[in-house]
Amino acid sequence: HMTALIAPRLGIADDGVGQDGNAVEIAGGSVLRVGPVEELRRPGLSEERYPGGVIVPGIVDAHFHPVAYASLLNGLSLKTAADFADLQRRIQNRAAGLDQGRPLIGVRLDDETLAERRLPTRHDLDAWVSDRPVVLHRYCGHIAVANTAALKAGGIDASTVDPEGGSLDRDEEGPTGVVRETAIELVAMPLAGSNRVEQTQLVDAMTALAGLGITSIGAIVGIGDGPWAELGNEVEIVAEAARDLPIKLHCFVIANTIDDLHEAAGMLGAAGARVSFAGVKRFGDGSLGGHTAAMCLPFTDRPETSGLLRLDPEADGALARAAIDLGGRVAVHAIGDCAVGASLDLCESLIARGAEPSRLRIEHVSVITESDIDRFSRLGVTAVVQPAFIGSETEWLAARVGPDRIGRTYAFRSLLDAGVALAGSSDCPVEPPDPWAGMALARDRAGLVPEQSLTGTEALGMFTAGSASAIGLAPPLSTGSAADLVVIDRDPTSVTPDEVRQTQVIATWVDGEPVEIDPGRPHWND
Ligand SMILES: [Zn+2]
Repeated sequence: HMTALIAPRLGIADDGVGQDGNAVEIAGGSVLRVGPVEELRRPGLSEERYPGGVIVPGIVDAHFHPVAYASLLNGLSLKTAADFADLQRRIQNRAAGLDQGRPLIGVRLDDETLAERRLPTRHDLDAWVSDRPVVLHRYCGHIAVANTAALKAGGIDASTVDPEGGSLDRDEEGPTGVVRETAIELVAMPLAGSNRVEQTQLVDAMTALAGLGITSIGAIVGIGDGPWAELGNEVEIVAEAARDLPIKLHCFVIANTIDDLHEAAGMLGAAGARVSFAGVKRFGDGSLGGHTAAMCLPFTDRPETSGLLRLDPEADGALARAAIDLGGRVAVHAIGDCAVGASLDLCESLIARGAEPSRLRIEHVSVITESDIDRFSRLGVTAVVQPAFIGSETEWLAARVGPDRIGRTYAFRSLLDAGVALAGSSDCPVEPPDPWAGMALARDRAGLVPEQSLTGTEALGMFTAGSASAIGLAPPLSTGSAADLVVIDRDPTSVTPDEVRQTQVIATWVDGEPVEIDPGRPHWND
């Protein structure tokens, strides 16, 4: 079956795969060629015309949490809560709709935007809901707050010691309910599976992404343990839904043992064409928002701490090699400049043992030293970045990293100029999934350090060719690549960032077939 997609224009990023024309010929789910319609046209070739549209490669989000996203769309989101009274109202409303005793999980809590400018404690939560465990996750995913019932369920009291790589906030009565990094697991694990995402919820969430023009994601998935244990075994949920997914999920598994990684790779490999095993995800540090990112020097607005380095060269190195042996990639979370440096050390040792540099990715790369920018490029490792973080952190970022570091924070221009491969992503549900907003922020940076801005062509390239490469896909629009295409109402390389934000998706094609999209479907929940 041969089809040509025809629109007045092709919008293609300037990344070496750029080809001129206004039509793409598709055969058997793959791209056959790109060119002017007059050259492609012939008898027997059916034509899909999109007058007024622009064809661009399908958007790839290289770092996305699909199950947590599906959970958010159906769950309790707290990001826009104005103050504690508003939090109380939302939490009590939610509790009223849950079965008796069922744990209440909330997400996207943000102390920076609450009038009180602090996280609630277990005492606050107990006054609102005390008859069931309550766990509220901070939007960064690196801090949570539990009520007394949830602490009890986790067996946590004044005698509990901090786990390795995490901490419990304490007052004179013992733990306050605020748990950081690996300590989140102490409250999440006893509630494992209590907020399990249904297959249909995942399929609906991925259909919402197709409506935004996303055709593939680098899907970060857990195996039912860790800080998101409430969601259930994400590998299992993705594998079960595989046959009904409208887009493709290339899965990076958060596994702590090689056996777990093997088991997950097997399950994902057998799931079906829209799901694959893409590698392992490990953590080098926490977040800037939670002051848990590992910095070389202390935070400017909290000089008593420089964050928490979580990388273990031995254990993480062994898991990384296991992922590569399974044909996968390695994704290491590193936000602070110290964590980025330690992650590059790990990459360097993996490369010395034969790893292909293009299989190694560092996630976020929020703050980086000048010398590590050069090392990044020399090693040939990929930086998987989230321009949307800049939009959420505008208020406090400069104060937190200080004047000496702000110029090398989200340093997209410096990285690109040094020759580092950049892959675009949202880290959704840390940020909304809208890739057009991400591209716009890569360009205007909400006004923050404009010298680090990308051009429209570079921004589109980061969310297409760059992110495709970071999950192991062929260059978009190259002959034989999957016919994953999006038709939009404007050329994002030639309009302003604000106009990119208004982009409307006209059609989304995955593997040479149009996907049913519903532009009215909600794709966010604050
Ligand atoms: Zn993430």
